[in-house]
Amino acid sequence: MIDWKNIETKWQQRWAEAGIFEIDPDPDKPKYYLTVAYPYPNSPQHIGHGRTYTLTDVHARFMRMKGYNVLFPMAWHYTGTPLFAMVERLKERDPSIVDTFCNLYNIPEKKLSELETPISMAAYFSKEIKNGMQKIGYSIDWRREFTTIDPYYSKFIEWQFTKLRQRGYITQGSHPVGWCPHCGNPVGQHDTVGDKEPEIEEFTLIKFRKDDLVFPAATLRPETVYGVTNMWLNPDTLYIEAKVDDEEWLISEEAVTKLEFLGRKVSIISEIKGSRFIGQKLLNPATGKEIIILPASFVDPRNATGIVMSVPAHAPFDYVALEQLKREVKTHPELFKIKPSDVNKLEPISIIELQGYGESPAVDIVKKMKIIDQNSPDLEKATKEVYGSEFHGGRMRANTGVYNGLSVQSAKDAVKQDLIIKNNASTMYELIEPVKCRCGTDVLVKIFENQWFINYGDPEWKKLAKENIEQMEIIPRELKQEFVNVVDWLKAKACARKAGMGTPLPWAKEWIIESLSDSTLYMGYYTIINGLNEIKPQPEQLTEAFWDYIFLGKGSATEVEKQTNIPNSKIDELHNEFEYFYPPEARHSGRDLIPNHLTFMIFIHDAIYPREKWPQGIVVNGSVLMEGQKMSKSLNNIIPLSNAIDRFGSDPLRLSLMITAEPLKDADFSPDLAKSMGDTLEKFYNRAQRVIKEKQEDSVEFTEVDLWMLSRLQYHIDIANEAMVEMKVRKTVHSAIYDIEQDFDWYLKRTEFDKGYAHRKKAINKVEWEVLSAQVRMLTPFAPHLCEEIWEEMGYDPFVCFAPWPTVNKDLVRSDAEELETIVKTCMEDVNNIIKVTGIKPNIIHYYTADQWKWKMYLKAIQLQEKGQLDIGILIRESFKDDELKTKTKEVPIMARNLVEEIKKIPEKTLFIRKSLGQVNEVKLLQDAESFLRAEFGCDVTVSSESDPWIDDPSKRASRAKPYRPAIYVA
Ligand SMILES: [Zn+2]
Repeated sequence: MIDWKNIETKWQQRWAEAGIFEIDPDPDKPKYYLTVAYPYPNSPQHIGHGRTYTLTDVHARFMRMKGYNVLFPMAWHYTGTPLFAMVERLKERDPSIVDTFCNLYNIPEKKLSELETPISMAAYFSKEIKNGMQKIGYSIDWRREFTTIDPYYSKFIEWQFTKLRQRGYITQGSHPVGWCPHCGNPVGQHDTVGDKEPEIEEFTLIKFRKDDLVFPAATLRPETVYGVTNMWLNPDTLYIEAKVDDEEWLISEEAVTKLEFLGRKVSIISEIKGSRFIGQKLLNPATGKEIIILPASFVDPRNATGIVMSVPAHAPFDYVALEQLKREVKTHPELFKIKPSDVNKLEPISIIELQGYGESPAVDIVKKMKIIDQNSPDLEKATKEVYGSEFHGGRMRANTGVYNGLSVQSAKDAVKQDLIIKNNASTMYELIEPVKCRCGTDVLVKIFENQWFINYGDPEWKKLAKENIEQMEIIPRELKQEFVNVVDWLKAKACARKAGMGTPLPWAKEWIIESLSDSTLYMGYYTIINGLNEIKPQPEQLTEAFWDYIFLGKGSATEVEKQTNIPNSKIDELHNEFEYFYPPEARHSGRDLIPNHLTFMIFIHDAIYPREKWPQGIVVNGSVLMEGQKMSKSLNNIIPLSNAIDRFGSDPLRLSLMITAEPLKDADFSPDLAKSMGDTLEKFYNRAQRVIKEKQEDSVEFTEVDLWMLSRLQYHIDIANEAMVEMKVRKTVHSAIYDIEQDFDWYLKRTEFDKGYAHRKKAINKVEWEVLSAQVRMLTPFAPHLCEEIWEEMGYDPFVCFAPWPTVNKDLVRSDAEELETIVKTCMEDVNNIIKVTGIKPNIIHYYTADQWKWKMYLKAIQLQEKGQLDIGILIRESFKDDELKTKTKEVPIMARNLVEEIKKIPEKTLFIRKSLGQVNEVKLLQDAESFLRAEFGCDVTVSSESDPWIDDPSKRASRAKPYRPAIYVA
């Protein structure tokens, strides 16, 4: 058994002692700079976190072996609310947090009281996470570590925001933001349960009236007001009659707070249960017609106003609910205060014409999908389809008056504006889907006065971002469009709040820059922070001019020295270090950060830096499943990263996080997988030790089969390399381990008997050595500790992590050797098939190879095929030009028929190789493989040419021999 702990500690110490991952500029080496989002230290990491960071490390290690001077730094994100929220919950001794910390992450209970400030908690967990990153063997330059509340970092962020403001990208105004009423803060994706982005939409509230009481129906499709057949209220919900500004509205209880946060004056008049209104009539402000209020359980009082208009022709939910109600009213009239006839007479009113659908698209699709229940999960899908198709392809019908003939897309805004002008509608910002703050409170939308925004909606700025995306290498490539889409819909985003840790806005110190805004440009800060720490200036010395020179090359070092008293030589060193490492070639991240962090990073870089400093690449990966399921506390399937390292070993763990999926797909982890990766590596190590023990230094002579193996090795190196360039790590590992091993097993089988001869033994060992050396290096990025160990045992200088990644040795690519080996493989498979079909247990196997005249025809046929002229007639005619073939008047036409069919099926590349090989001496080839075949079948094997005078051909098979397909007799 491998002692993982021992090997890992040994190599981690050696790496640290040699400082090999502490990277400084090296003018003689091309650089490669990659980063990954710094973690929030508000809890320890689990296996789910391990994937992104491991992939980054694998990437860093790969590029190092490709000869690059690779910088991979790490820091800690203290700013923002995640730490605050966690501290709050801990202080309240939230049982779920206490359970997670003490039972899942094994934090001693008495330690908890020490974690009750954001800084002490962050310090504790960043140490924990760092320890884990070291234990798993990440090749990080720890000299560049920092936290986002360090005074130098704050100075850097101040500079970043000063630049953004100077360039006109900061705006101030009133905008809707996601808001936690408990925390009193705007809420972004980082602050919510499940990291859900609070997406805000403007709903239209259409004012249906009963006398002076307004029923504000919330909709994203105001144009459908012409198709309303009835109103839906939830009969079990408590509604509020309230004065909203200067009208009386009926709204759900939840809507009261929401409207207040949106800046409306709301005073409650009375509370009334929804059921009270069922059966009453309202006036539709667009059509002037009366409609009835009906009960519906799907109406969610937490959604907008809790009042919903029913458009059964175009809204699948409405149609299904209406039909269901018709049925229920018929069977249980006593449960409803409405006359069945009032419900039964309601028919969908189609107001939109849509090609490919019947009169009413919603009715169509509901019938097609056979949905009958208003709680059916299929309704979401149906709704999406109808809304999408109508929005893009629908036209308004004649029953919509002045909007007749308009596209739905333009009618939507026109109807809305017209209703608003006549005070028949208003608007309300609302979250598209409910989101909870990390503190557990429902997020609301708040109109924020005088809030500071980064204006990602600026059209010129969007253009720059798209240009950046265009020239950027995004892996996987198919995500490029997703980035462009995000750029398209991004709007102004709140960038500061009144609470939390972080850097104050330089021009309005009561505002603290929030965490998705102070983490977008900092990759440049890594390049200079270790230098800055050596100089140790006072934070105040880091002026705008200082950063301008360091990052933008504006001004001169001597001017900056005058202003800051930092020696100009030191300033130049920092500037040069930035110039050397920037821009970053790769930013790694999980896919969930595309709609915010990653796209913000692009925008901010493009705003502040010249084009040559724009980010060059992004690598995105999916998440990690545990035995096919999402990891969650409730499923009790979260494994802390540090436990996993102790339990499985870091190399097996790294390998199992990489091997199940390419970057974009979810990786499926399981303890069994990690164990089996351990076994795979152990098997590899055992073979390595055998090969190392048997090593002999003498020069050797290779046979065809040796050359075959070496050639196959080149093939696999080529595949692994190509895959790795695209970060297809799963494919790389498969080539490096399993695919090579498959060929290698064949090779060992083929040479089993050769080992009895000293000269063969040496050659075989030499081949094994070559295979091992390539495999160790290909596996180094994935299993660095074990590979260092093997590399050292092989007698090479440490460290394998700087050894060259294997490249294809063109001299060893021997397509001919590979082609010849297929003859042996075919001869073996053919016999196996015969045995399988006949059930014979062979006593003897005869192979008969084709005569020279057949080879002549075979090669002629290839030539004709290459010229596109191969057919039976031509082949016969061409063959008869040859003196020897001319005599075989009977055989040549038969052979021609045989060959034409066969050769047409052979790939061009193979034909090319066969042409260059010419006539193969199959007798010798098979005689060389005789001992192997004999062992394989456990019986005697003979090889002869079909016209050998001593041939033993009891059932007259020999004449069937063809080139590349010897005839066979088994008895
Ligand atoms: Zn909150």
